[in-house]
Amino acid sequence: MSLPKLNLHIHTTYSDGKNTVNQIVKTAIKLGLDYICITDHFSSSWKSKIIPTLNNLDKIERYLEEISHCQAYILKKNRKLYIFKGVEIDISSSESFIINNIHPYKFDLILFEYLENLEGIAFIKNLIATWKRDRRNRNKFPLLGLAHFDPSFFMLGGFNVLLGFLKQYNIIIEFNSSYPRFYSRKYETFFNKVKKNGIMVSIGCDSHHLANLKDVEGAYKMIKYYNLEDNLKNLIKSLEMRKN
Ligand SMILES: [Zn+2]
Repeated sequence: MSLPKLNLHIHTTYSDGKNTVNQIVKTAIKLGLDYICITDHFSSSWKSKIIPTLNNLDKIERYLEEISHCQAYILKKNRKLYIFKGVEIDISSSESFIINNIHPYKFDLILFEYLENLEGIAFIKNLIATWKRDRRNRNKFPLLGLAHFDPSFFMLGGFNVLLGFLKQYNIIIEFNSSYPRFYSRKYETFFNKVKKNGIMVSIGCDSHHLANLKDVEGAYKMIKYYNLEDNLKNLIKSLEMRKN
C-alpha cells in the first residue's frame, strides 16, 4: 500500500495552538490528509505555568466532545479524513494529577513528552499499570507513543532497558518534523533496533498553526531513510482498527 498522509501531533486553542479543532479539520480536509490526531498539552509542571493546558476534567470533557462533534461532521460530509482523540502528557507532571484527570480509555493516542531517563520509563510503566487496573471501561486501551523523543539521553546507558520497554508496551516512536535533530544519522543504531524489533513509528509535526499542518515531509523522509515503512504500516493498521 502507498503511505497515507498522517499528522498525529496537533495542538489547538485548548492548549498553545492558534486554531480551533474545527478550523484544523476544515484545513486538513482541504490538504487531503487521511489521519489527524489532536494532541493538546496536559501538564502540571513548569510548562503549565507558561502555556494553557488541559488542566481539569471539565475542560478535557469539552475538548473530547468538540473532537466527537468534528468526527460526526466528517462522517456526514463523507470525507476520507479521520480524526483521532489524543493528548500529550508531560511526564514531569505529578502522578496523582495525571491519574485524576486522564481517563485513558477516552483517548485513541496518548503521547508522552520528555522521556529522558530510566526514572521516566518507570514513571510511565507505573501509569500504565494503574490505568490497566481500571476494568470498568469497555473501550479499547489507547495507543501510546513518545513525542519528539530524543535518543541522546539513552545512548550512553539504558539503551537496552529503553528497547525492552518500547517492545513490551508497544510504544510508538514519533517522527516529528519540528525536531529534525532527534532523527539524525548519529542515532542510526537506535533506529536500526526500532526496525528490527518491529516498534511502531508515527508521523507528526507538532502543529500549532494551520500554516504548518502539512509540514510532515521531513518525517516521511527520515522514515524512508531508516527503512521504517513497515513499522509505519503497522501503526496504520492499528489506527484502522480503532476507526471501527
Ligand atoms: Zn506537542
